[in-house]
Amino acid sequence: MTHVLILGAGPAGLAAARAARSRGARVTLVDSADAVGGQYWRHLPEQRAGANEESLHHGWDRFTALRQELEADGDVRLMHSTSVWAIDRDGEGALRVHATEGPADGPGREPHTLSADAIVLATGAHDRTLPFPGWTLPGVFTAGAAQALAKSERIAVGRNVVVAGAGPFLFPVAASLSQVGANVVGVFEAARGGSMAKGWLPRPWSLLRASHKAGELVQYVSNHVRNRIPYTLGSAVIAAHGTAHVAAVTIADLDTNWAPIPGSERRIAVDAVCVSHGFTPRVELAVAAGCELTSERFVVTDERLESTVPGVFAAGEITGIGGVDASLVEGEIAGLAAAGLTAIPTKLRRRHRATTDFARRIEAAHGIRSGWTSWLTDATVVCRCESVTAGAIDAATAASEQDALRSVKLTTRAGLGVCQARICGRTLEQLIGTHPGGGIVDNRPIASPIRLGELAAASTLSRTEHENTTLIEKESPHE
Ligand SMILES: Cc1cc2nc3c(=O)[nH]c(=O)nc-3n(C[C@H](O)[C@H](O)[C@H](O)COP(=O)(O)OP(=O)(O)OC[C@H]3O[C@@H](n4cnc5c(N)ncnc54)[C@H](O)[C@@H]3O)c2cc1C
Repeated sequence: MTHVLILGAGPAGLAAARAARSRGARVTLVDSADAVGGQYWRHLPEQRAGANEESLHHGWDRFTALRQELEADGDVRLMHSTSVWAIDRDGEGALRVHATEGPADGPGREPHTLSADAIVLATGAHDRTLPFPGWTLPGVFTAGAAQALAKSERIAVGRNVVVAGAGPFLFPVAASLSQVGANVVGVFEAARGGSMAKGWLPRPWSLLRASHKAGELVQYVSNHVRNRIPYTLGSAVIAAHGTAHVAAVTIADLDTNWAPIPGSERRIAVDAVCVSHGFTPRVELAVAAGCELTSERFVVTDERLESTVPGVFAAGEITGIGGVDASLVEGEIAGLAAAGLTAIPTKLRRRHRATTDFARRIEAAHGIRSGWTSWLTDATVVCRCESVTAGAIDAATAASEQDALRSVKLTTRAGLGVCQARICGRTLEQLIGTHPGGGIVDNRPIASPIRLGELAAASTLSRTEHENTTLIEKESPHE
């Protein structure tokens, strides 16, 4: 029986699991979160499940049906609360996936080393936030964090909240905040009318294939109308103000390149700010597996979604930011292909083309423009883990003769802190002007935090793997 190992149990991973099972493969599905569902179906933990969970999610019935089907299937092994921290190769050159099972950073986590006939990478993305003066003040959140708190804890990050950034994601964030009782003072989208039209207006008929997205849009617009939330195009939060906590923000109108238009600045009093300027894919496991990336940092795949490493497939946000529909259709294709299907059905390929088109539109309408760097002052913190400022990065870049990324990291420590450049990395690259071939921030041999004791135990485990079959999971528990 072919064994398919799927890393990430969001929409892409779940769809891949179902598709692989439909071709008779045995499936192991791994996710670091407490429950399956990924970012889109993030929900309250089972111990305190919400009575009205479906009201906070689109497609909730689809998710619960998918989850029940996989949970009831004896040939699916669901491993949640399991973080993959490395991928390497064994003595024979086969890929090995190293993971720990148990509460994040908790004691006594169980180590696992997994191998399979095919691997599907479905690790998703995290939201990207551009820095601005004051963004490190308490009360400034990434929109993703604010939404996660609303969805999985029912916590509103503030009473009077501004949502700002770029992309359709700002709508659900404003909706989630309203649902948990926050007053959303305004949503400020950096993209101007012109680029919105360029992204969304051409070939409107092709958008019909994403018709349920239109349904979601109607719900979001009615949320804006019901809660009287102003939505302003071509504007951004360019500074946050306060001493111990954010108390106000400066909003400015932007030109087409996202540089603030002088004289358009105005202050708004708030007690929380949620910012998101799109997403960046979580590609460290793909990098560890040896997969090639595009210049925009997505995993290169063929029509069957096989990466440049034979037997390793990729689906969802790590191949392009196209929303939940793209993740579902890609998961289906990757799951089928990983389980041995060589020719993808035409209908599925057509659906895939439509969702890829959706991803292109998002980029054309809302993609980050380079003028945002003029929001920064020399004192603006860029790497918050190591408190490195834009001025320090500029000075180190000017002083370095080659491989500026490496020099800046070593001289300033930017990107070397706890988050390992997950928050500041892309910003750092842009400020330095490094092209991806010159070194990228996503090369993280250790993909998720691991205790030194666990690491030591894991290396002992690797040395003794042939003798110690109780800890090395070469065999399926179902066999
Ligand atoms: C913060 C955030 C909020 C979003 N909110 C919305 C929304 O409200 N509405 C909307 O339409 N779209 C939203 N999106 C976009 C939407 O979530 C995605 O389109 C969709 O979830 C992508 O599915 P996916 O399966 O590719 O990735 P995800 O849903 O992100 O799933 C990836 C999974 O991989 C797991 N994973 C990653 N690395 C590891 C590792 N090393 N070890 C183990 N597990 C790992 C993660 O825990 C996660 O569960 C959001 C995206 C983000 C990042």
